[in-house]
Amino acid sequence: MKSVVIEQPGELVLAERPQPQPAPDEVRVRVTFASICGSDVHIWHGHNPFAQYPRVIGHEFFGVIDAVGADVDASRIGERVAVDPVVSCGHCYPCSVGRPNVCKTLQVIGVHRDGGFSEYAVAPAQNAHRLPATIPDKLASLVEPFTIAANITAFLKPQADDIALIYGAGPMGLTAIQVLKGVYGVRQVLVVDRLPERLALAQENGADRVFNNSEFPLAAQLEGVQPTLIIDAACHPAILAEAAALASPAARIGLLGFSGEPCSITQQALTSKELSLFTSRLNSNRFPQVIDWMEQGLIQPEKLVTHYFPLAEIARAMTLFEKDPRTCCKVILQMD
Ligand SMILES: [Zn+2]
Ligand SMILES: [Zn+2]
Repeated sequence: MKSVVIEQPGELVLAERPQPQPAPDEVRVRVTFASICGSDVHIWHGHNPFAQYPRVIGHEFFGVIDAVGADVDASRIGERVAVDPVVSCGHCYPCSVGRPNVCKTLQVIGVHRDGGFSEYAVAPAQNAHRLPATIPDKLASLVEPFTIAANITAFLKPQADDIALIYGAGPMGLTAIQVLKGVYGVRQVLVVDRLPERLALAQENGADRVFNNSEFPLAAQLEGVQPTLIIDAACHPAILAEAAALASPAARIGLLGFSGEPCSITQQALTSKELSLFTSRLNSNRFPQVIDWMEQGLIQPEKLVTHYFPLAEIARAMTLFEKDPRTCCKVILQMD
């Protein structure tokens, strides 16, 4: 089978590999569509501290179960599934409180073990979520990116009368806009980014007001409006201090960033307004919820997609995704 392998940092190859066999409690998926994420690019360039090499990348993927390991019901063969990349132990403290995404022995498919940019991939049977016929194959790999927004908003508990501010109109920011508008009915969703093309995409995805902070600071443009809910989906370490300064007293701030650089903020900036700070990593069992949102039409994954490429053009697809954020949002690979 053909697989996208990062042999070592900087070295991406489309390799011929043996087809994996499902272990007990695993299924094998014949992958048909997969989408590219920023973290795939980070593993390629050696910027993901958790990645081990060589690695088949890809953690956003969809396909059909074509084989099952021992102890898995063989009637699952033929099921259309989206695969949750979070593999957890099930019994450590975070697992016991419903937070498998920060399991003490967390393994992420496509990072710690081989992923879905491949004609076949194996995963624990419980990670393969059956999809209703109403979700088309070519959009089904986008369940995973929406689980990121599902996870952070579960902490933030958005209300219709919140004034929400989202930093960054990349894929994470856009899924957050859709979830705040479509699922929670937040009436005011404000979005800030430096690229006008991305801000136009934010509006297409439901943003009520957009701000370009490439020339003028956001504070001046907000004219005293104090957001009550802020999501940092731009993930720059400088954002937290600005967010705290702009926030309403009693606001909630959600962080998705993973930078290793320190961010500088005083205790006073947080405590004087009694701000609540939430961090969110990957997703904790959010696949069923997002599949339900898609089935109900509350979110529109097609609005994120700008390109489809065949697997053979993986290097071109990854480079476009990385270098051209003005024209490129979600890029989907077609395996056959
Ligand atoms: Zn991702
Ligand atoms: Zn665990």
